[in-house]
Amino acid sequence: MKIPIAQILRNLVAVFGLGLFGLSVGRLLWTDRGPVTHRVAAKAHVAGEQGADRDVMEESARETEKEGEEGPPPPKDSGELVVVLDPGHGGSDPGSVREGHYEKNINLAIALRVRKLLEGEGVRVVMTRTRDVAMELEERVAVANRYGKSIFVSIHQNASLETTARGVETYFAWPRPASVMKMQRDRYGIPEEYAFEDERGQALAETVQAAFCEETSAVSRGTKNRNFVVIRWVHGPAVLIECGFLSNAAERDRLLSDSYQAKAAKGIADGLLAYVKESGGEMRYGLRFPNGEPPEDPASGRRTVVQAIPADS
Ligand SMILES: [Zn+2]
Repeated sequence: MKIPIAQILRNLVAVFGLGLFGLSVGRLLWTDRGPVTHRVAAKAHVAGEQGADRDVMEESARETEKEGEEGPPPPKDSGELVVVLDPGHGGSDPGSVREGHYEKNINLAIALRVRKLLEGEGVRVVMTRTRDVAMELEERVAVANRYGKSIFVSIHQNASLETTARGVETYFAWPRPASVMKMQRDRYGIPEEYAFEDERGQALAETVQAAFCEETSAVSRGTKNRNFVVIRWVHGPAVLIECGFLSNAAERDRLLSDSYQAKAAKGIADGLLAYVKESGGEMRYGLRFPNGEPPEDPASGRRTVVQAIPADS
């Protein structure tokens, strides 16, 4: 049997603890010039797939094409707060695969549930994908950056060679590249002479992680700072949650069940709602101005900035 090279690379990544982005090993790379993506690993994986899966992928490829030609124009920025939900992977990129179960499908199922819960609370939600289609990381980032007031959550499932590994972990990314900080200055009205630090990602990670664990009773692996492309290149608070391990049989069974997906979604939605409530929907919430008084916020006319306090600091 042919072993897909992407699988080997993925396992190596797992062994060295670099976190997992499914088959997209190349996508773990980042530079200060911009996110780097490679389709090479994805192609290697496709070559090792079975016929039935290829049909599914060809179907998604057609859908992508159709969407590009006939899809509706992207929604306009109305200035209101938008939660951008990003179900990881999709289409020809299944993410982690264990026992025939694809990470991409669980990511989407949970994200759709989160959307429903948030919309039920009157929160505007935008999804990077609502179907099984492939999407570059830059496209996901671009969706989040389309809005002046956006909170971004990328939803993933973990995997490891260590089959007993379990639990949930939430990532944030700090510092951000210079071009992203420039975008932040422009959008939040922060002149060049004001230094600032951004603790929003960590604050959001803490609330989402805590609410997820409370709702699901999952083991907490904590929050971590990691330069994942999808969270590093967006201007707003952004996190990536690994809901559980597909490589752990018991956890995989749970992640595949409707009841657990509902709890996972409730946890993520509760965490987001807690953050939105705490921040009052202000983008400058959680920014820190180490040199003293912050500049006036052109949006509110206020100088005060409520500082986010990470839960376990
Ligand atoms: Zn993933």
